[in-house]
Amino acid sequence: MKCLIVEDDPTLSAQLAAALRDGGFTCDIAADGTQGEFLGSTETYDLAILDLGLPGMPGIEVLTRWREGGATMPVLILTARGDWTDKVAGFRAGADDYAVKPFRLEEVVIRAQTLVRRAAGHAQAVIKAGPLRLDTQLGVITRNGLALKLTAFETRILAYLIHHQNRVVSRSELSDHLYDSAADRDFKSIEVVIGRLRKKVGEGLIETRRGEGYVLRTAA
Ligand code: CA
Repeated sequence: MKCLIVEDDPTLSAQLAAALRDGGFTCDIAADGTQGEFLGSTETYDLAILDLGLPGMPGIEVLTRWREGGATMPVLILTARGDWTDKVAGFRAGADDYAVKPFRLEEVVIRAQTLVRRAAGHAQAVIKAGPLRLDTQLGVITRNGLALKLTAFETRILAYLIHHQNRVVSRSELSDHLYDSAADRDFKSIEVVIGRLRKKVGEGLIETRRGEGYVLRTAA
């Protein structure tokens, strides 16, 4: 899952990025409103965390432009304590949730994970996929009740497929949601990891559609 953080306080954005990476996210950081507006309009994200008080362009305007441009990712806004008008303006502009500064990083990570799974249509914190279970808060995937031994990258790929089970996910969609914008995108390594995952989760669950992508098939 890929997250955009738009926050002008470099200490806070670094802390947020570290906590979100521990929570299974890949993160891009924008330090002002103009860059944030550009990234959110041109890159693919599963979630954006948006400070409202930003240099360059105010957060509300950033959000308004994203939504007018058709960006549908969930957006969590960061607001100052006691400023309820900020929250109202944020929701009117298309925000999905908010956190009040100063916040606990754990709280923002849980809210982020919740927004992402709800956007994918899952109401429960544990997502079922055939014999697999993804605990979205712990980032643990089990098969028939036993934890799978997965690398961080394998977990990110399988978690994405579990969120989007029973539909074809192309390699470019996977790479959009797994790598941050600065990374070298490598289709070959995705293929290798899918091969390893197939062995770990058991035959028949992950199908390859030639020229299309992959399906985690859990329904007939
Ligand atoms: Ca700020």
